[in-house]
Amino acid sequence: MATKTRLQTSLARAVAREAPSVGQWLEFPGYQLARTVASLGEDWVLIDCEHGAISDTDMHLQVAAVASANCSPIVRIPASEPWMMKRALDAGAHGIMVPMCETAAQARSIVAGCKYPPTGIRGAGAMFAHSAFNQSPREYLTSANENIVVIVQIESRTAVENCEEIAGVEGVDMLFVGPNDLASSMGHVAFEHPRIPEVQEAIARVLRAAKDKGKYAGHFALGAEEAARRWRQGFDFVNCGADIVAVGAWMGGEMERLKGLIEETKMPTNRAAVWVSHRTLAVQERPITPPGPNDVLVQIISTGICGSDAHNWNNPNVSKQLILGHESAGVIVEVGAAVKDRQVGQRVAVEPGFACSTCEFCRRGNQNTCADLKYCGLDPTDGTLQQYFTCKAHMAVPIPESVSWEEAGAIQPLAIAVQLARRAALSASKTVAIFGCGPLGLLVIAIAKAYGVRNILVFDIEQSRLDFALSYGADIGILSPKNTENIEPLKFATEFTSSVKQEHNLSHGVDISIEASGAESSAQMALTILKPGGTCIQAGLGKQLTSVPLFLLTANELTLKGTVRFTPGCYAEAIDLVQSKRVDLKPLITETFPLTRVQEAFQAQFERRGIKIVIMNQE
Ligand SMILES: [Zn+2]
Ligand SMILES: [Zn+2]
Repeated sequence: MATKTRLQTSLARAVAREAPSVGQWLEFPGYQLARTVASLGEDWVLIDCEHGAISDTDMHLQVAAVASANCSPIVRIPASEPWMMKRALDAGAHGIMVPMCETAAQARSIVAGCKYPPTGIRGAGAMFAHSAFNQSPREYLTSANENIVVIVQIESRTAVENCEEIAGVEGVDMLFVGPNDLASSMGHVAFEHPRIPEVQEAIARVLRAAKDKGKYAGHFALGAEEAARRWRQGFDFVNCGADIVAVGAWMGGEMERLKGLIEETKMPTNRAAVWVSHRTLAVQERPITPPGPNDVLVQIISTGICGSDAHNWNNPNVSKQLILGHESAGVIVEVGAAVKDRQVGQRVAVEPGFACSTCEFCRRGNQNTCADLKYCGLDPTDGTLQQYFTCKAHMAVPIPESVSWEEAGAIQPLAIAVQLARRAALSASKTVAIFGCGPLGLLVIAIAKAYGVRNILVFDIEQSRLDFALSYGADIGILSPKNTENIEPLKFATEFTSSVKQEHNLSHGVDISIEASGAESSAQMALTILKPGGTCIQAGLGKQLTSVPLFLLTANELTLKGTVRFTPGCYAEAIDLVQSKRVDLKPLITETFPLTRVQEAFQAQFERRGIKIVIMNQE
């Protein structure tokens, strides 16, 4: 019974110009691959034993796999050898494609190899072929000569010259153009065949020859466009890609696409000043933390640096590559969904402390001594020396337009000085002695002045600092003596402060003393200069163990207090002091550096060059 194969049916449909006979091409071995590809809707699947990685066994498996999917298996054999034709046909191929057919004689021998006698010489022992045709062995044997489609490849200049004759050979069903080899044999680069007129003319000639002789014409195509183009040109039989092309194109394409998508979704990065090793900062790109519902994202414009930054910079044992910085101001560029009281575009100073707000200290208003305090730039909490910083909205404190960015970078230390002033209860009626004319001492002078403090005495070991302090509002500047003769320290301090009291008519001493240098001798003088009932604020951080005359605390009912960071309201007050021009921060800012030169800035800070150094984060 000569039932037509799917391949034959599709070719008849193609000749009727309804639709091309379409297939796919396998270069990889594997039953599952063949079965999968055969179910994609094509009429046939070609198993390429010429160029593919497909052994004889693989070919048998794939022929069976394709046939079982109700699709026609075609085998391209490696060369025009009758035994190869026999193996492929015996496996059950519905069609056989033979490469490099150049003459009518070769075509005749191909036909002979594919046909049972009397037409040809094929041996009759096919064991498996009939099942690929859904036939009995006998049916197969008697119908194979009609059912098997013999395809010869025209892929050389000689073959084109002889294509009319080849097409005329009885039993040759199809001329198939292999454009790559054809172009190559004509002296061109194989893959360039679509652009070479000579090759295209040859292809047209092969098509004409096939049609003139009532044969099918086939053409190789790597994709739908080329397949459609060849169909429109008049070819009956086209493939529409190949497994290896699919893997390369699809997987490669997805990889590229993924790269693109990752690029798109990549977190925007920003430049940050990062501690990388002892006294070494590097400018690195760091991801921007997207703001949560209660957060704001601040584009940081300026960041002051101070002694504690230099201390961190000088630390050989930071636990990670830490972003430093904690004295920053900038512009809000994004607000979280739940934030109601901050707007994009608002100028803000950033409070650098993250207090837990639940510990006993936080609950009584002392967030500065929170048991679980995280502080910007303090290991392990990343700081604000970066272009963008995300924080809780309430930590972004609005600052007015009148405050310059440079000044804004010094709001945080001013807030610390406000806290100090609160601890000291500075007020107009008091006399104050300040030891140490560094940035903190100077800021305390400014606040004392703003509060109308009557008499501000300042002490330092450097005349230049005293001169600056005097120009900045101090009333009396006194050079602290050095104890070069090794006088007993308490005696030394007492004698010096007594002479100061006498010389400046302080009678029993000052109301408030502020130790802002960290020197032990200053700590002693800060107590001996107090009048009975006076208060000393220890703000400088010196040695961990410092000897001070405690008996004076008892005898004179002195108060000794520490001060650290700032409590709620200090920031707002600092901003108010600047805005109302009661404190002028500008004279303190002696140098600005772009973020890109942050290492130099820290070197300068470490060497205590100038008073206040401000980094411009966007530069
Ligand atoms: Zn600081
Ligand atoms: Zn707390």
